[in-house]
Amino acid sequence: MTKFVFVTGGVVSSLGKGVAAASLAAILESRGLKVTLIKMDPYLNVDPGTMSPFQHGEVFVTDDGAETDLDLGHYERFISTRMRKANNFTSGQIYKSVLEKERHGDYLGKTVQVIPHVTNEIQVYIKKGAGLDTPDAVDVAIVEIGGTVGDIESQPFLEAVRQMSLRLGPDQTAFVHLTYVPWIPSAGELKTKPTQHTVQKLREIGIQPDALLCRADRYIPDEERDKISLFTNVVTSGVISVPDADTIYKVPRILHEQGLDDLICKKLHLNCQPANLQRWDALVYEVEHPKDEIKVAMVGKYVDLSDSYKSLNEALRHAGIHNHAKVNISYIDSETICADNVNQLGRYDAILVPGGFGIRGVEGKIATARYAREHRIPYLGICLGMQVATIEYARNMAGLQNANSTEFNPDTPEPVIALITEWRDREGNLQQRTAQSDMGGTMRLGAQSSDVQPGTLAHQIYGDVVTERHRHRYEANVNYLDQLRAAGLVISALTQQEHLTEIVELPQTVHPWFMGVQFHPEFKSTPWNGHPLFNSFIHAALEHKTQQDKN
Ligand code: GLN
Repeated sequence: MTKFVFVTGGVVSSLGKGVAAASLAAILESRGLKVTLIKMDPYLNVDPGTMSPFQHGEVFVTDDGAETDLDLGHYERFISTRMRKANNFTSGQIYKSVLEKERHGDYLGKTVQVIPHVTNEIQVYIKKGAGLDTPDAVDVAIVEIGGTVGDIESQPFLEAVRQMSLRLGPDQTAFVHLTYVPWIPSAGELKTKPTQHTVQKLREIGIQPDALLCRADRYIPDEERDKISLFTNVVTSGVISVPDADTIYKVPRILHEQGLDDLICKKLHLNCQPANLQRWDALVYEVEHPKDEIKVAMVGKYVDLSDSYKSLNEALRHAGIHNHAKVNISYIDSETICADNVNQLGRYDAILVPGGFGIRGVEGKIATARYAREHRIPYLGICLGMQVATIEYARNMAGLQNANSTEFNPDTPEPVIALITEWRDREGNLQQRTAQSDMGGTMRLGAQSSDVQPGTLAHQIYGDVVTERHRHRYEANVNYLDQLRAAGLVISALTQQEHLTEIVELPQTVHPWFMGVQFHPEFKSTPWNGHPLFNSFIHAALEHKTQQDKN
């Protein structure tokens, strides 16, 4: 029988609810339980795919092609269960489903209302996310409710989980509330009042938390913990202090030391082995004891909000850990890069151009790819980063001076990157699109495999087959591949059916490490072994640095 832990948040957002939920899941997994995580988002977008990264940070993509909240990235990095479409849903999806049922006549003449129809639908989705009644059913599903308690839009979710706990019974469900305890410098005090109020709000709805995760910039002394306990009706042992951590991989240990997992297991009557966090300790040790240090330039568009490149940042760090090196990432706005100042990139050990949409800053990215190619600096282009590297190569090496993507110039005479109008999706169904097609959910999405050409750098990294996740609309135009090949570009992986370009690279005789990939490898990186592509890229950066030091 699957048990549920509901994780809510209070006072303010951005306290790390996703990391806290993932950390609890990781501890429970180390206790031998089968665990999954579910994220419910209160906004009306059907998924975050149509939202700007400036609004919502990165859009994480699952193997089965869902565009999801970035917390699912944390979930996959913290536990071994892989996320699926069903692990993230929004108010938009719930309402869409309820309205479709209403139009279909499924409510048999009833007035369709938030309670019970919307709240019931939420419960159906939660159960689906937990794989209930399927062979995938887990022992514990940790359900994170987006937003903060008190928001109008998250109310139906809170009501739904309250009803669910009533229906399932007290030993089947637990509530964990993440709150904020600010330090007021002028008073020299930690203030518990916001926490008292947010728990009051929760209790008004009928939810009594079993544990409070109190975020603060420091450990919370026992005296304040006692006070919080008294005002919130949570046992003192359930008032857990979660200070700022310099690495998120410390959080499982912090929670375990204060007994969060024991408290949850007791509440849910789970008899399981003790936690074993050895591998987390070893990971933190590696993070804190690098033997070397490198500088990576990330030349992109969404550089002001590092959440926009969450998985990428983590993947680079994981590869750093794997190579015993600290990776320092400098975010550079590609709009500020032009031919006259691109040589500022010469001081980096490696250059990365990440994924992106829209024309802004594209010429700066093209100049960046050219600089990395000509100066033999390790270059990794991801998705748009591959497309700009291809455009650059076409313009400067293949004599196609006007080469461009139809995303940036629909009338370009040399569309080396273009919109494909027909393709087969992961299930093999024929899909069609035009520039006017719906924006939501219509990209090439999710995991796809292709063969890798032997003798290439890609083959050294991946072996015969590469399977990675996609999220893009435009593709390298098949009609130009021969010209690019003749000019020296290596196309090292093509999809089996449509021959879509998956990887381009330069021969290692010409450049030590230059690669563009149409997919997003960062989504599959975990801290445990790093990701082979990023491991190789960071290794090349270290070699470049050694070489530079010698010269
Ligand atoms: N804008 C490009 C496309 O849609 C690249 C997308 C991306 O980098 N994820 O194909």
